[in-house]
Amino acid sequence: MKHNFSAGPSLLPSEVYRKLSQAIIDFDGTGLSVLGLSHRGSRFTGILDRTFELMRSLLEVPSDYEILLMQGGAGLQFSLVPQNLMFRFGKAIYMDTGLWSQKAIAAARHFGRVEVPTISSVYDYRRLPDWDFLQNERLSDRDYLHITSNNTVYGTRFETFPETSTPLVADVTSDLMSRRIDVTQFMCLYASAQKNLGIAGLAVVMVKRAFIQNLKLPDMWSYHKFSQQKSLVNTPPTLAIYAMMLMLEWINDCGGVVEMERKNLSKARKLYQAIDAHPLLKNTVHKPNRSPVNITFEIENPLYARWFDQICVEQHIIYINGHRTVGGYRASLYNALSEHSVDVLIGAMQALERKVNH
Ligand code: PMP
Repeated sequence: MKHNFSAGPSLLPSEVYRKLSQAIIDFDGTGLSVLGLSHRGSRFTGILDRTFELMRSLLEVPSDYEILLMQGGAGLQFSLVPQNLMFRFGKAIYMDTGLWSQKAIAAARHFGRVEVPTISSVYDYRRLPDWDFLQNERLSDRDYLHITSNNTVYGTRFETFPETSTPLVADVTSDLMSRRIDVTQFMCLYASAQKNLGIAGLAVVMVKRAFIQNLKLPDMWSYHKFSQQKSLVNTPPTLAIYAMMLMLEWINDCGGVVEMERKNLSKARKLYQAIDAHPLLKNTVHKPNRSPVNITFEIENPLYARWFDQICVEQHIIYINGHRTVGGYRASLYNALSEHSVDVLIGAMQALERKVNH
């Protein structure tokens, strides 16, 4: 078995793999594959209802929020959020905290006026702005303030979220379900399923009902249509929804989001300690902004980096490379990654030190 530190699509728990493969052969003893269930039949709508129910209870989503399951990952939401939510003033504020927020900004610019505070790109994205700076920003007459809660590429995350009069929208793709979050602080939260929640291609959107308008949009882009039709606007990605349901059941059985957060913090603490104590490894993120889910580090000496790569191969450590735009290394510690895998990675770091000192 490999130790898969991929930033996404991520690994899933082996129990989820087992149940998924079994359901592809024979779903629940029905003699039917989950792949061939009618999406309007009771077997599949049962899966869908259970997915909504688990999502709502695990994240304590209040009843005045809709939960939508849409295709196209978070990448498509970059365009759907402004089309559905920028309807009062045609203006929004977007925080530029790195690559994914920049993609959200570029998409939103097709649909309205996007303001990006200059402070947001400070320190080469290795440090996030304090929310105090918002006091100097014009926040009224803006439809929303968009943030990326965890920046997957650089390994930064906002520990807290701002209290503002402008509604908050967050891309929570890389940390939804990995930590506790107060949904009521947001007008809208969205995430791809492929990190902590399942497989690629599916996105979950949680949006306060009062902000869902019946706008002139094609059905497949419309939050209103998706909420009215319980996300069955066309044939949904049934397997991805089933995988999400299994993942939510697994999280629930493990003790819920509180337990995910506890385990994730314990894994992250260990790994940051090992990096900080290591003479050859460096994490350049401002400490209070360090992400517990995507942990980046560098090895300056190219020869030592090659040795480390070799040790990783021997130890079956995979996808430890940094994002192609920044290089270096990145270990993603999503929900399904075990503490044992983190120990193996720390062992590889120690093996590098021994080899260098030899
Ligand atoms: N937002 C963030 C923070 C991400 O990390 C990613 C994927 N790495 C995306 C959005 C895009 O997700 P997808 O490719 O599934 O659309």
